[in-house]
Amino acid sequence: MGMPPSIDSRAAAAERDRADPLANFRAEFVIADDGIVYMDGNSLGRPLQAVAGALARVVGEGWGERLIRSWSEGWMDVPLMLGDQIGALLGAGPGQVAVADSTTVCFYKAASAALDARPGRLEIVTDRGNFPTDRYVLESLAAARGLRVRWLEPADRTLGPSPEEVARVLGDQTALVTFTHVDYRSAAILDMPAITQLAHDAGALTIWDLSHSVGSVPVELDDAGADLAVGCTYKYLFGGPGAPAFIYVRSDLQASLRQPVWGWLGRRDPFRMDPGYEPAAGIRAFLSGTPPILALSALAPGLEVVTRAGLEEIRAKGIALTELAIALADRWLAEHGVTVASPRDARIRGAHVALAHRDAAALCGRLADRGVLVDYRAPDVVRLGLSPLTTRFVEVWDGVSALREVLGAGPAG
Ligand SMILES: *Cc1c(COP(=O)(O)O)cnc(C)c1O
Repeated sequence: MGMPPSIDSRAAAAERDRADPLANFRAEFVIADDGIVYMDGNSLGRPLQAVAGALARVVGEGWGERLIRSWSEGWMDVPLMLGDQIGALLGAGPGQVAVADSTTVCFYKAASAALDARPGRLEIVTDRGNFPTDRYVLESLAAARGLRVRWLEPADRTLGPSPEEVARVLGDQTALVTFTHVDYRSAAILDMPAITQLAHDAGALTIWDLSHSVGSVPVELDDAGADLAVGCTYKYLFGGPGAPAFIYVRSDLQASLRQPVWGWLGRRDPFRMDPGYEPAAGIRAFLSGTPPILALSALAPGLEVVTRAGLEEIRAKGIALTELAIALADRWLAEHGVTVASPRDARIRGAHVALAHRDAAALCGRLADRGVLVDYRAPDVVRLGLSPLTTRFVEVWDGVSALREVLGAGPAG
């Protein structure tokens, strides 16, 4: 699937859906109301039908039948087994990803471990537009340790920080460099290999937040030389509300990095209950408490479906959907004061589109009244999240068309 030929009617959008190699995946999801235009799958992916069966099985068999024995019959390995599957979507070899906690907690663990590994250095580099939880966790760590956060203000907020802008603030005081790979507002994709290399040249460690990347755009963690990464599984991985997050630690760093939450299940031989903490070998040391088996069971079908669909097809459709949304915004909305606040170059744009308008908040409310679910991102962004396994081209047509109507321009022709 390459660039979309121009789609200039609703019928052409429907035709495009019929030619879509991923079209059949939609039937595997729970679609309770086909009339809803859902353009918020990047905040909460739709549920897979297979989740109900997976939960029934774990309740009936693993939990109901095998009871406590299940912990030694496989449950202990689930966080690392699913971690390896996520790693395969991120260009990470096995044994480097664990599924645990929330993204917030994984980020705290990763950042704390990285800062401990760079004692004496006083600065953390990130950007002002970074996702709030990342910013707040960094503020907390900086306050507790007497460090400074260097807040980058990129010249072009739509594109996010460039390697040159990052390079300018790096130095012998930089302990940690951390960004979100696909920006949650603009969808800008940062240059992970170049920024990681610059951080390493300055002697710093990196953390990449992959919440909007995993399952939607290709990532090559091992090739990029990334140190640590975290991300969430309820967006493009369909894990369900509050699904556990993941943490990546490059294998050669695992023995030296120490995460701060020393729980029993990150310890060597946890069931000996010995005095004193000694980390488990490998990525297991980044776990803390008991794995959430029900939530992990609900995540497995999402990983299976994304793996089966293939990231190449998913990425190609993500590009085609966002190209269509941008083309329609240019055609219908520009004259009403809407500007595209996402990169126009598809190579550096994830699977959502930000449209800026001064009345964005009110527009989102009026869209919701019409059954078009989008996200408002303060202060002025209407965000259209286009999830390639569930979003149809005709939905993009209808959604942008509804936006044109609520802007007062009458129905789309
Ligand atoms: C969604 C998202 C999170 C979510 O964090 P939680 O701890 O799961 O609430 C974190 N970072 C980014 C960049 C996100 O987009």
